[in-house]
Amino acid sequence: MTPSPVWHPFTQHGLEEPIPRIVSASGAELWDGDGKRYLDAISSWWVTTHGHCHPRITAAIAEQAGKLDQVIFAGFTHDPAEEVAAGLLDLFPAPLAHAFFSDSGSTAVEVGLKMALGFWANRGEARSRIAVMEHSYHGDTVGGMSVGARGVFNRAYQPLLFDVATLPFPAAGAQQETLDALEAQCSGPDPLAALIVEPLVLGAGGMLMYDAATLAAMRAICARHDVLFIADEVMTGWGRTGTLSACEQADVVPDIMCLSKGITGGAVPLAVTLATPALFDAHWSSDKAKMFFHSSSYTANPIACAAAAANLAIWRDEPVRERIADLCTRQGERLARLAALPGVHGARQAGTITALEIGNAAGAYLSDLGPQLSALFRSRGVLLRPLGNTVYVMPPYCTTEAQLDEIYAAIEAGLDLLG
Ligand SMILES: *Cc1c(COP(=O)(O)O)cnc(C)c1O
Repeated sequence: MTPSPVWHPFTQHGLEEPIPRIVSASGAELWDGDGKRYLDAISSWWVTTHGHCHPRITAAIAEQAGKLDQVIFAGFTHDPAEEVAAGLLDLFPAPLAHAFFSDSGSTAVEVGLKMALGFWANRGEARSRIAVMEHSYHGDTVGGMSVGARGVFNRAYQPLLFDVATLPFPAAGAQQETLDALEAQCSGPDPLAALIVEPLVLGAGGMLMYDAATLAAMRAICARHDVLFIADEVMTGWGRTGTLSACEQADVVPDIMCLSKGITGGAVPLAVTLATPALFDAHWSSDKAKMFFHSSSYTANPIACAAAAANLAIWRDEPVRERIADLCTRQGERLARLAALPGVHGARQAGTITALEIGNAAGAYLSDLGPQLSALFRSRGVLLRPLGNTVYVMPPYCTTEAQLDEIYAAIEAGLDLLG
């Protein structure tokens, strides 16, 4: 047994897999201390949007760090936070009108859930039931796990998790079952407080994709029954599905939208939960007992907000949407080529994200193939992190033609492992 002083996330230290020590990054590339280069085909866990160390973002961080590093955000405010809030409300549609800051996707979800329950409590209506979608992932905090899929990831913590109503995943051809299940949950005797969904793509659940019409229909059912609709855009936001948000493709505006990952371009942690006036107003009172009881020490940290403000400026000033559209096309061409090969199943794409199963058509997270694939990709200097035998590509938007070719060549080489 080799003890590691650093305890890594989602890592089985007992397998003694090599853990590269990364010292620098630029664009779509990472380098370790020996000068070995890794092509970042998963945007460093889905956060890096424009590319690593975008000069405008790193400059904004440096400048802000020399001016105002941190200030309590209860009862105080600062320019970077005000700028980010105003920029977000410009970019995302009305009636989203209030931005609540936190530090990670998980906390953005916790905040959304607490806002929803606070809404009902402050209105004097006892609603606390949450509906979720099968296979969903909303973070690793206890609340996030509660609204996410149950399985090997959280079996030990099961006693801590609260009950939720689970809707079947709207696989192609079975969408009506999802909608019927939601309708039934909405019209039962114990009404739902909220539905939380990952719009269009269920990320950690295996890059499962569903159609915009179903997303729109779920939103309509919630609206009809006064059930709050929470869109967890932590992964899908910031262009991942081809549009700024995935909700945009369904012409859906949620009551609550959770954003994180790409909000700073992937440079530093920050999250925002956007909410409509109805949510804000339900907490607005001269009664202190009705305020929104949530905070973390670093809420709206000025350095993180400066990075987010720079990201917003990049979205305004640079041809980000064109880059994304171009990447969607280039990803699609390569996926189509791979999809035809024997051993490839379920080839699918949502915007800049492609995914497929290798070997077993049903994705299996603990599949033995996963670690073998990871080792092969690592040896080729390509950072891909398969979810079991599900391989997906989610590159930064600056990824070049040659880099994409290298990523797909690595996946094709992975097919040889099938023997
Ligand atoms: C990654 C993710 C989260 C959790 O975000 P963290 O920053 O890792 O806490 C929540 N929801 C979705 C959809 C995610 O992909």
